[in-house]
Amino acid sequence: MSSSISTSLVYVGLLGVLPALLVMRVGLIVVSWRRELAHRGATLGLTVLGIGVIAAFFYQDHASTLRNNRELRYLLVPVNYLAELSSYVGEIAKPELPYEAIGSDAKQGALWQQPNASRPLIVVLVVGETARAANFGLNGYARQTTPELAGILQLVNFTNVSSCGTSTAISVPCIFSDLGREGFSAEKARARDNLINIVSKAGFDVDWFGNNTNCKDVCRAVPEIRAVREEHSQFCIGDRSCMDGAIFGLFEKTLVAPFGRRFVVLHMLGSHGPGYHLRYPREFERFTPVCRETDFSKCSVSDIVNAYDNTLLYTDHLLASTIRSLEGLADRADTALLYVSDHGESLGENGIFLHALPYAIAPDVQTRVPMVFWASSGFLDRMRLDAGCLQTERGQLLSHDNVFHTVLGLLQIDTAARNPALDLFASCRNKPIKSGEVSP
Ligand SMILES: [Zn+2]
Repeated sequence: MSSSISTSLVYVGLLGVLPALLVMRVGLIVVSWRRELAHRGATLGLTVLGIGVIAAFFYQDHASTLRNNRELRYLLVPVNYLAELSSYVGEIAKPELPYEAIGSDAKQGALWQQPNASRPLIVVLVVGETARAANFGLNGYARQTTPELAGILQLVNFTNVSSCGTSTAISVPCIFSDLGREGFSAEKARARDNLINIVSKAGFDVDWFGNNTNCKDVCRAVPEIRAVREEHSQFCIGDRSCMDGAIFGLFEKTLVAPFGRRFVVLHMLGSHGPGYHLRYPREFERFTPVCRETDFSKCSVSDIVNAYDNTLLYTDHLLASTIRSLEGLADRADTALLYVSDHGESLGENGIFLHALPYAIAPDVQTRVPMVFWASSGFLDRMRLDAGCLQTERGQLLSHDNVFHTVLGLLQIDTAARNPALDLFASCRNKPIKSGEVSP
């Protein structure tokens, strides 16, 4: 008999047969079903109460543990099999949505017919991660977390922007969808064209540089360009996620080569927790001391906030550097950049950390996001955008719903899918352009 079989027999005997024999000796006490129900109901009630008390007083300890060890969720009995069963039944019972083509009429608008239309143009959309409006220096946060952006003239900082969701899985597909927050579901968004599809259809070169986990199916029309770890040892340390400098560097390299009409997305890892301290190079560690743990229970709130604020300093640097590079192309291209974060973050307010609370009960810090816009003078002239007017838009009540329509407007793409009322720059165009009109 092999040793593995004998080990198995001992294992089954000690942990299976022996306990079974002992259980057989226990006499069953039969009680009425009412008493049994009351007993179990009381146990369940006490358990729920206990979980509530623990969540209320020790959220910090448990939020990061659940975030770091997702498999723990699958060990919670009976929530695991009940939730998975209902989601499985829901999946197979639901008919698959037919795919809906959106913006099939998309074409480059009248401004592209002008004599200077051959001049290259690039619009960059930077999708941030977990940056919250409340800690953005430009929004009046007590700390200057955006010193480089603050020095850029012509930057428009939108101070009143809300996110579509409180998680990447909702917000990112929603930003690129025409559905808007009210009509959005991830399933619906998967079954219809999004901004990437439409901009591609209109004939632009589209690139998606990704440093987040993945593009949540949004970039299915184009390959996702990711940093090769071995080539970016400065940003990809050990087995950690790469810092965002890796993809920003990859994008910058593409600016050297000639290009025509480009739309570029940079999908950041930004301020994703709980390992905030892993998101930025050491030179951006200016708010100290910082939490160096991914288990929040081992850190003070102020150290956690310090680490988080340093991630914003790094995002500020990457955005400002990219704007400077785009500005440097002024002699040969017209350029613009729009940055918006996907959702915010709780940093200990009311004992809550991280994000992804249900939208209806999520605090503002999870749903208010920073958004900034910059365009070269050449871009503003060419697209007939009034720089002074753009600044007056900064305090408007805006949301992720505006991004889809605003990007289509920035690229002058004509399509029935674009709703000018949601294009936040529509009212800042000096005058409408007629087809074939000669540039002044
Ligand atoms: Zn996110």
